[in-house]
Amino acid sequence: MKTRKLVNKLRKELKKVKAYKEQMEQLTDQQLSGLTASFKERYEKGESLDKILPEAFAAMCEADKRVLGMYPFDVQIMAGVALHQGYLAEMNTGEGKTLTATLPMYLNGLTGEGAILVTNNEYLALRDAEEMGPAYRFMGLSVMAGVKRDEDDRFENDEKKEIYKADIVYTTHSALGFDYLINNLVKSASDRFLRPFNFIIIDEADSVLLDSASTPLVISGAPRVQSNLYESADFFVRTLRENEDYEVEEKNVWFTEKGLEYAEEYFGIDNIFAPEYFEIYRHLVLALRAHKIIEKGTEYMISENGEVALIDASSGRTLKGVKLRGGQHQAIECKERLELSQENRSMASITYQNFFSMFPKMSGMSGTIYDAKDELYDVYGKQVVVIPTNNPIQRVDCPDWYFSDSKKQFEAAIRLAVKKHDTGQPVLIVTTMIADTEIISHLLVEKGLPHSVLNANNAFWEADIIKEAGQMGAMTVATSMAGRGTDIKLGPGVKELGGLAVIGVGRMLNIRDERQARGRSGRQGDPGYSRFIVSLEDDIVEKGTDLEKIQKYIDGTKRISDRKIKRIVNSAQKINEELGSTNRKTSKDYDVVLQLERKLMYDTRDMLLDGGTVEKDRLLRIAEDNVDLFLKENKELDVTTLNRYLLDNISYRMEKDSGYLNLKNRNRVKAYIMARVEQSLEEKKASIDSESAMNDFVRVSALSAIDEAWIEQVDYLQQLQAAVSGRSSAQRNLMFEYHAEALESFRKMENSIKRNIIRNVLLSEVSMDKKNRLHIILP
Ligand code: ADP
Ligand code: MG
Repeated sequence: MKTRKLVNKLRKELKKVKAYKEQMEQLTDQQLSGLTASFKERYEKGESLDKILPEAFAAMCEADKRVLGMYPFDVQIMAGVALHQGYLAEMNTGEGKTLTATLPMYLNGLTGEGAILVTNNEYLALRDAEEMGPAYRFMGLSVMAGVKRDEDDRFENDEKKEIYKADIVYTTHSALGFDYLINNLVKSASDRFLRPFNFIIIDEADSVLLDSASTPLVISGAPRVQSNLYESADFFVRTLRENEDYEVEEKNVWFTEKGLEYAEEYFGIDNIFAPEYFEIYRHLVLALRAHKIIEKGTEYMISENGEVALIDASSGRTLKGVKLRGGQHQAIECKERLELSQENRSMASITYQNFFSMFPKMSGMSGTIYDAKDELYDVYGKQVVVIPTNNPIQRVDCPDWYFSDSKKQFEAAIRLAVKKHDTGQPVLIVTTMIADTEIISHLLVEKGLPHSVLNANNAFWEADIIKEAGQMGAMTVATSMAGRGTDIKLGPGVKELGGLAVIGVGRMLNIRDERQARGRSGRQGDPGYSRFIVSLEDDIVEKGTDLEKIQKYIDGTKRISDRKIKRIVNSAQKINEELGSTNRKTSKDYDVVLQLERKLMYDTRDMLLDGGTVEKDRLLRIAEDNVDLFLKENKELDVTTLNRYLLDNISYRMEKDSGYLNLKNRNRVKAYIMARVEQSLEEKKASIDSESAMNDFVRVSALSAIDEAWIEQVDYLQQLQAAVSGRSSAQRNLMFEYHAEALESFRKMENSIKRNIIRNVLLSEVSMDKKNRLHIILP
């Protein structure tokens, strides 16, 4: 739908809400909060939320006014409707998204099925839960925060149940995502804490849905046995010649035919793609990527304590405790000749794209989301609606200044900052990278200007500083993402001086980041100023341009016009945005298979956890499949192999009669094994006297078989992803190969589940104690 039409539609709903305004004002507190019960009743009787919306919104508006002292503006009510209807709402920074969310959260909270709001850091989640909480509670809904201030401090299982039982939950996207994965690793139904998903609002939606989307959530489990292949692979890769043995294109690298032959020769193997050499091949690809496309300085750096620290592209910060998966991190460590860190197996993983798509109702809000509307529509099927501002924007966004080199650029930034500062106007200098905040800070010190620098990785601390950035005479230096979501209020007398001045140093990774930076100023119709100062030495130019071609301009041997600089810088930014979008799409495509498999596995687990079991007939059919597979794999069957199979899968008891079987007669052999299966199963039944205990036993056996195989599969797919990329050449279809192999491995996994279910049932030691409790020791 066209934006204007959409906004008109929202306006209509607004009118309906406002029609109840006076009526709500007349109510006593008790009458007002009493409405919750009547809305709930109407909902339970079958009335839709859409129908209840006007009254419920009006009631919540009134509650917001009485409890929080703020009555939502018309545009906020309209945005609230959009959020309820599942749109992504672009609302400028400072327009009051936090308050807006109370309306759809309340309405959807009435269902009793839970409404969740996620945002991108703990600070914001806790702040919003604390600040908005009283209004919901006044209306009789329960509110919880799903994160703690200290991220290392974990909730107990019981606490999580308490949290997710609440009508309204404020949390972060990563806390919620991890909880989802954990919830699907529990061993018994009573350990589950999540309810089925219902409604979710994503605050700072572009950051959550886009910036976080290329790295999936991964839960790591047991450490993997350290491979000694890293070093030999590293050594091998150092001997390769570009375009002969391997080719590089943008962010991809692969072996040529020649390179593969060389590898086979080097490692003394005949076919590097054979399954038995998968590990060698995988390590080669990891080493190749580590050397040829993962750049030191832009993607990672070596921290003071000698570790590989990843760099977050959007903030320029190092990512604390984050490692590349599938062995890539270790390959980089090897390249840098550092001690290899422990590699953990992946137990569960999901991309944010797939995670959020599981919510029946999802919506989002942000100050900067319109620029990504096409991608958001493609990936999430969500439409962006731009909500008008409450007051016209007064901020003056000045045209960029262009320079050929960074020295002139930084000097100009400082000059501008000083000029603004001299009048008392608060100045916020925004840079693309941490390193630049330090340079700026240095230059300010030289001028004797006191200032604050935001470059710690702590949202709580940042929020405290940035809040003060609007005071008279304040000078703040920060990266673009620092303190996102924190309101900068203007101090007394600052309006008269022109509000907050934002000076951007360097072209940002994408337009959204730039608008986010400008949006720091001019909130709620305040005056404000913004200007970006750009140069050919901006980090982004380095990534998207042929550096040799522009060197002559940078070192001043040739003059360049502003127009030309503008063209170079803009196109570099565009390339970078497209790259980001491609990465996110790739990450999602990889997850397609996993998503299907995950759903199947989680559904099966849920069925079992909820008391379902595998009936005897089904067990026998599974056993039969296993036997068929066994016979297929052993065309020439001998007694030893048969006895081994019986011992490994069916019964620890040796029987001599297998020696009399005619092993050439397949049907006979099959019937014989199946008879042994039935016998063994009957014996198990006899040792467990009740039917329900037997069901419990089978359930535990099946769950364990599934989990073991599934965790293996998740881990394998993670590794495969890293490995398969090195196999691509211009003609090959990477994703196709990945999907084919993933499917193949899924079939293998199914077989191993089947085998393990039967093994677990038939070979477990199981007994009942005096209190009739089941004791199981799995084989
Ligand atoms: P956003 O998330 O959109 O950037 P916030 O939710 O942080 O904005 O709100 C910015 C400021 O506006 C907050 O200080 C908030 O208290 C104030 N505010 C929001 N809505 C209203 C309102 N309807 N009436 C008065 N103040 C409001
Ligand atoms: Mg906000």
